Amino acid sequence: MKAKDQKDRKRDNKSANGQSVKLIQTKIIDDVFTDAVEMVKPKFEVNYDAYLERLWQANGDIYDILKNAEHLESARDSLMTYLEKAEREIFKVDNDLHILEKATVRECIRAFKSIIGQVNEYRTGVSALDCLWKLARKKVNELEHDVSVGFLMEFINLFRGVAGRSNIYFETREAKKGIPDFLKLHGEKASEIRTEILDSMGGTIQRYFKKYPSGLDPDVQDWREENKKRILNYFKGTEEDWNDYKWHLKNVIKDAEPLLNLIELTHEQETAIKKAAKNRIPFGITPYYLSLMDQKITIGYDSAVRAQVIPPPDYVDILSENKADRGVIFDFMGEHDTSPVELITRRYPGIAILKPFNTCAQICVYCQRNWEIDQVLDPKALASQETIKEALSWFDEHKSVGDVLITGGDPFIMKDNSIKQILTELAKKKHIYRIRIGTRTPVVLPMRMTDELIKILSEIHQPGRLEVALVTHFEHPYEITPDAMRAVQRIKKLGIGVYNQTVFTTENSRRFENARLRRDLRLIGVDPYYTFNMKGKAETRRLMVPIARILQERKEEARLLPGLDRTDEPVFNVPKLGKNHLRSWQDHRLVMIKPDGARVYEFHPWEKNITPVPPYNYVDVPIYDYLEELAARGENIRDYRTIWFYY
Ligand code: SF4
Repeated sequence: MKAKDQKDRKRDNKSANGQSVKLIQTKIIDDVFTDAVEMVKPKFEVNYDAYLERLWQANGDIYDILKNAEHLESARDSLMTYLEKAEREIFKVDNDLHILEKATVRECIRAFKSIIGQVNEYRTGVSALDCLWKLARKKVNELEHDVSVGFLMEFINLFRGVAGRSNIYFETREAKKGIPDFLKLHGEKASEIRTEILDSMGGTIQRYFKKYPSGLDPDVQDWREENKKRILNYFKGTEEDWNDYKWHLKNVIKDAEPLLNLIELTHEQETAIKKAAKNRIPFGITPYYLSLMDQKITIGYDSAVRAQVIPPPDYVDILSENKADRGVIFDFMGEHDTSPVELITRRYPGIAILKPFNTCAQICVYCQRNWEIDQVLDPKALASQETIKEALSWFDEHKSVGDVLITGGDPFIMKDNSIKQILTELAKKKHIYRIRIGTRTPVVLPMRMTDELIKILSEIHQPGRLEVALVTHFEHPYEITPDAMRAVQRIKKLGIGVYNQTVFTTENSRRFENARLRRDLRLIGVDPYYTFNMKGKAETRRLMVPIARILQERKEEARLLPGLDRTDEPVFNVPKLGKNHLRSWQDHRLVMIKPDGARVYEFHPWEKNITPVPPYNYVDVPIYDYLEELAARGENIRDYRTIWFYY
C-alpha cells in the first residue's frame, strides 16, 4: 500500500474486510509511540505522515544524503561514506558519548551497512534503501512495495541509533536523577547506593511476577478444585477416576460441546473448534488440562493455557485448505529430508530422534509435527513392530549416535509394555549412553507417572552407564500445579533429570512472564533447557514473536535472575540443519528490513567453521505487528521500547 493510501485507510477506520475496527489511540512521543489501550482488534491508529516526518528528523544527515542523491547508487555510496565516518568518530578520545551508547552506535552502523549492502539486496530480492530513497525524494508513486509504519519505525530507531541518540538510557529513573557513580565511592556508602539500585530492580521484578499467577498459588488451587468438581460432575467421574490417567484419556475432549458446557468460550474460539472438529484438524484437551482453564473468559490469567490447545481461526482455515498437502507444506523443519529410515530424524553427529508413536493426549496449536499427527489418540498411532524393529536396528549401523531422543507424538501416551520394550531394546545397545524422553504428560496428564511407569524408568536408568532424562514442555507459570510438581518429583527421586523446552509465543512473552516461568520451574524441580523461537509457519503467525524480543528478554529480564533460574538457551531451529544459538552474533546477522517491517536474518548453520554449509535466510514477524498484538493484551508498549536495538 502506498503511503497516501495507507494514510487514507487509517482515517477510514475500517479493516481490510470492511468491519469497523476500534483503534488504539497512539501519539508519537520522541522515538516511540505511546498508547492509551482500548481496543478490540490489534491495530494502532497512526498518522503516517507524522511518522515519516519523524523518520527524517531522526537523522538529518541521512535525510540530506537520501534527498540529494540523484541515483540510488550515489545514495548508497554516500551513505556508506557517512557510516564509515560515523564509525571512526566513536573511536575518538574526545567523543563524550556514554560508552554504552557508543556500543549501540556500533551495532546500528553494522546493521545499517548490512541492510544497504548490494549483496543482501540481491539475496533477499528487496531493497530497503530503494524505499528510503524514494520516500526521501517524494517519489511515493514509484515505490515497488507498500511501505508500512513498521518499516518506518525500524528506521526511525536505526537512524537515531547511528546518531548516538537511541535513548535507551535516557528515560530510566536512575538516568533522570543522575546515575550514582558508586564505583567512585568505597565501603558502606558505595554498597548502600548499589543496594538501593538493586532493590529498585528487584521490586520491579516482583511487581511483574504478580501479573502472572502460578498454579501453585493458593487462590488458583481453590479455583481449580471447583473446576475439577464441575468437570467430574459433567463426565460422571469420581475422585478415583481423576487420579487415573486412563480415565482422562478416555474422556479427552475433541469437540466444542463439552467445552461450551464447562467454560465460557469466545465466539471466535467456538467457531474455530467446531470447524476443526468438522475438518478433522487434530484437536483435543484432557479433562485435567481443562481444569487449568478459568470458567469465565474475563479472568484472563489462562490465556496461554487456552491458546495452547484452542486453535485460532486462521490456523483452522489454513490447515483445512491445505489438508491434502499438509505432509509437505507444514514440514517446516524439512524432516522429510532428514529421515534416513522411517521413524528416525537426524540433524547432529551424536543425536538422533526416534518417533515410534505419532499422537499425543492433546495437540499443541504450534506443534512442529502437526503435518504428521492425524488425530488425538489416534488408535493407529503406534508404528508397526516391524518398522520399530528396523528403526532400532538403524542405531547398530550408526555407532556415533549415543544420545536418542524419543519424541512426538508423546511416548508416554503409549502403553507401558510398548515403552518398556523400546527402552529395553535401546538399553541393550552399548554405544547408547543417554535416552531422552520428550513428553508433555507432566503438564497435561501428570497422573501418568504411575508406579508401573516409574518402575520401568528406574530399571533403565543406570548412572555411569545409561542416563535417562525427561524433556518436558511447560509454557506458562499457570500450568505449574501441585499435581505437576508431584509427577516431576517422582521422576527426580529416581535420579532422572527433568528439563523444560519453552516455545516463545505472544502468550508467554510479556515482560518477565518467561522469567517467572523459569523461576517456578526450578521450584518444582525442572531445569529450563531451551527457549525456542516459534517456527515461521503461516498457520500460527499471530502467535509469533520477533527474534529481537527473545534477545531483549534474555538481556533485560532473564539476566536479572540467579544463574540457576536461567539455564535455558534461546535457539532458532534452522530447517534441515538444527539449532542455532540466538545469543551469539557469530551465528546470525540482520540483512534486510522488508517494506512490511519484517526483518530478514541470515542464519549460519551450527557447522560454521567446521563444514561449509550454506546459510539460511529467515523472514521474521515485524516487530511493529508484534507490538500491536501485545497492545491487544493490554500491554503498555513503552515497556518494550528498546526492542528495536536488538539485532
Ligand atoms: S506434545 Fe509435542 S508432539 Fe505433541 S502436540 Fe505438543 S508439541 Fe506436538
